[in-house]
Parts: sequence; structure tokens; C-alpha cells
Amino acid sequence: MAYNPIDTDILKSALENAGFKATKVGKELVYVRDHHKEPRLHVKVYTSVTVGKANAKKKGADAIRTCLTYTDAKGKERGVGKAKRVFRTGTDSAIVGRMKQRMREMYDLANRMAKGERCPHCGSVRWPDSGKCVSCFKKSAPQKAAPAPANMEKLEAEMHEMVAKYEAEQEAAAFLSDPDFYAFATGEW
Ligand SMILES: [Zn+2]
Repeated sequence: MAYNPIDTDILKSALENAGFKATKVGKELVYVRDHHKEPRLHVKVYTSVTVGKANAKKKGADAIRTCLTYTDAKGKERGVGKAKRVFRTGTDSAIVGRMKQRMREMYDLANRMAKGERCPHCGSVRWPDSGKCVSCFKKSAPQKAAPAPANMEKLEAEMHEMVAKYEAEQEAAAFLSDPDFYAFATGEW
């Protein structure tokens, strides 16, 4: 498919509309958004655009890369997830669409990490599937649920859990299905 030196402003506005803030790593324009509930988790988009240039790099240069990082209690930032690269081929909207898809994938991983229990050894988030800590790499079994309360309390607890689960699903569904990232950008979800 033909290479498309997509206009920097198109990438910038798509990222800014999704609530991402510009920063730079070396000379590369990088956009960052912290997770709304766990601000130590950061979704990052490496645009492959050199700061101050009107277009992305020339043909064959790096693609757009999207990843998830975590800043641990010691202030060390660690990579915890990365998405497939987005090559700058096809139309502008196809490139932006693929970039947004990768951003959603990383935000979805951040959601799962933010909602999961923290590492009992160091308090960091854990990878949801392996249960391994992203910081000290120790694996720990999920904690057992609290002992069953008396009957009424138990019913009430179950109801709260059901409502919370429903709300979380609605939240995730709205985020993942919204092509314009409207809810994502405004923080309303
Ligand atoms: Zn740990």
C-alpha cells in the first residue's frame, strides 16, 4: 500500500481530541495520557514526527508506536504493554483510525490493571492475565474474598457488586465503541 506522509496537524488534533498531551522524547513528538483512576499508568503514542516538522518522517522511517507505561513508587517508569505498530500507509483517516484502535487497546489494558488488586509486596499494579507485578515481578495469587457477612449484609454486598459490575461494563463498552473518543476525551465515562 502506498506510503502516506500524513500531515502532523491531523495526528495532533486526533490525539488532543482524545485528551492526550504533547511532550517529546529526544526530537520525537510523543503524546501522553494518564489513566483516569490510576495516574501512574500512562498511555503513550510515539508519533514518529520530529518536533517542528510538518510531516511524519520520510518513507521507511519508524511507524507510530503506542505503549503503556507505569511509574512505580520509586519513580521508575516501566514499559508494561505495547500495541502493534501503525504504518503510515492508506488514507489519513485509516491511519488515524488504526492509531486510535491501538490507543484503546492500551487504555483497556490500563483499565484492567487499575481495577485489579495491587502487588502485596510493593503496591504496584499487576498484569491481569499472569498476576505478575510489573515492578518487582513477583507473582501473587488473587486475594480471597472477604468472609461471608450475615445474610442481609451479604445480599446488600452482592447487589452493590452487581451494580458496580454493570457500571464498569457500560463504561468499558462506551469507551471501546465510541469512534470519536468523545467520552474518553471529556472524562465523562
Ligand atoms: Zn511488586
